[in-house]
Amino acid sequence: MSNILNIIGGGMAGSEAAWQAANSGIDVVIHEMRPKVETFAHRTGNLGEMVCSNSFRSDDHEQNAVGLLHWEMMQANGLIMHTAHKHRLPAGGALAVDRDPFAESVTKALKDHPRISVSYEEITELPSDGNWIIATGPLTSGSLAEAIKNETGAEALAFFDAIAPIVYADSIDMDTAWMQSRYDKGETEEERTAYLNCPMTKDQYEGFIDALLAADKTEFKEGETAKYFDGCLPIEVMAERGRETLRFGPMKPVGLTNANDPNNKPYAVVQLRRDNALGTLFNIVGFQTKMKYGAQKDAFKTIPGLENAEFARLGGIHRNTFINSPTLLDEQMRLHSRPNIRFAGQITGVEGYVESAAMGLLAGRMAVAEMTGQALDPVPHTTAMGALVTHITGGADAKTFQPMNVNFGLFPPIDGVKGGRKGRKDRYKAYTDRAKADWNAWLAQKSLDAA
Ligand SMILES: Cc1cc2nc3c(=O)[nH]c(=O)nc-3n(C[C@H](O)[C@H](O)[C@H](O)COP(=O)(O)OP(=O)(O)OC[C@H]3O[C@@H](n4cnc5c(N)ncnc54)[C@H](O)[C@@H]3O)c2cc1C
Repeated sequence: MSNILNIIGGGMAGSEAAWQAANSGIDVVIHEMRPKVETFAHRTGNLGEMVCSNSFRSDDHEQNAVGLLHWEMMQANGLIMHTAHKHRLPAGGALAVDRDPFAESVTKALKDHPRISVSYEEITELPSDGNWIIATGPLTSGSLAEAIKNETGAEALAFFDAIAPIVYADSIDMDTAWMQSRYDKGETEEERTAYLNCPMTKDQYEGFIDALLAADKTEFKEGETAKYFDGCLPIEVMAERGRETLRFGPMKPVGLTNANDPNNKPYAVVQLRRDNALGTLFNIVGFQTKMKYGAQKDAFKTIPGLENAEFARLGGIHRNTFINSPTLLDEQMRLHSRPNIRFAGQITGVEGYVESAAMGLLAGRMAVAEMTGQALDPVPHTTAMGALVTHITGGADAKTFQPMNVNFGLFPPIDGVKGGRKGRKDRYKAYTDRAKADWNAWLAQKSLDAA
């Protein structure tokens, strides 16, 4: 097997993967189609270009999961994070950057590296041998996407996401909500109580529909096609089709008895379903939406039981190419059917610049370990890196898999730490302290930063 690492895509993930591998003594070729082949969102031929916002979000590594991811990447000599700090702009607690100098710096660092070369070409087929990382992002070119689809099956590759809001389980009021599957279906008690239900009276339902109709919506960006599949219409579009549409769709009140008030039949029911194996996150079933974030929060907090809900992420629908990682990838981010290929970045079903770069960092290190015959311990689930990679490669429900941001709901709970809003500050500090210690121990296991 060749000892060159080939990386398709020089965006957030591909750039970081290349940097990590080259710094460990591996020769890397980045295959980048821009500027020869353009996407609707990129403007330049630079590596590491930010396609929209110029923010890497919160830099608070004690109280915020994204900030913790920043910290972990800094500890691992991450190119994207170090360059971001170099080109930082004033933005309160957020890490915002001067986007063009940032991408120019990333490009220069990679092109100046003696072990990295850049080949400006579009890759259109899946490579059959050699070591490869596919990091072609949400706007993977059509021919490569077709090749991936032929390998994985059409069901396992999506071209749009349809993200329903995700709520922290411990912020839901269980004096109002109750656990039950429709018609108590299921072989086991766990299946019969798989859904969390929030009841609505007629007035509450009517008020909710009014809020959906009045809400500010996000428009699709130029080049994105607002092609909704009927199975995943945004809830506000369903509401526009008729005030009763939701009550006969995802909010139908049938097959359910309110355990907190058995004699009162709800007029409508909002259902939430477990979103991760830990049971710390629940998604609101069928509530994919293009409403603006503020409007989503206002509308969803009117749902009985969710008045104090805290959202691990809000809903959205975007043009986004991503694979069903829980079924397709092993814990080393390799394709089961072709283990010479790893996937990294947004195409694996993480979302955001930071998460994408983080998965590039891991894929680069995993590739190095394999190419140099080193056994790499699994990334601790307790770290932000580990929480994300564990989620996409196994923790998430494959049937409902949608892109995920890093958040504390992905972390294993700590015994004895207070839950709920009151304990939040101490709990987040405990998570980040534990993560930092575990990440440093993981980094110390091998001298991957050798060169
Ligand atoms: C319109 C839009 C707006 C977004 N806004 C934000 C935002 O504001 N904040 C945020 O955090 N995230 C945003 N995202 C998500 C963002 O794209 C990702 O977070 C991040 O850029 C993904 O990193 P990546 O490395 O996986 O993909 P990219 O950074 O997109 O890199 C992929 C690279 O692969 C190249 N490529 C694709 N196909 C091929 C091929 N066949 N051969 C060779 N090269 C190829 C592309 O040219 C590109 O350079 C947005 C995404 C889109 C589409």
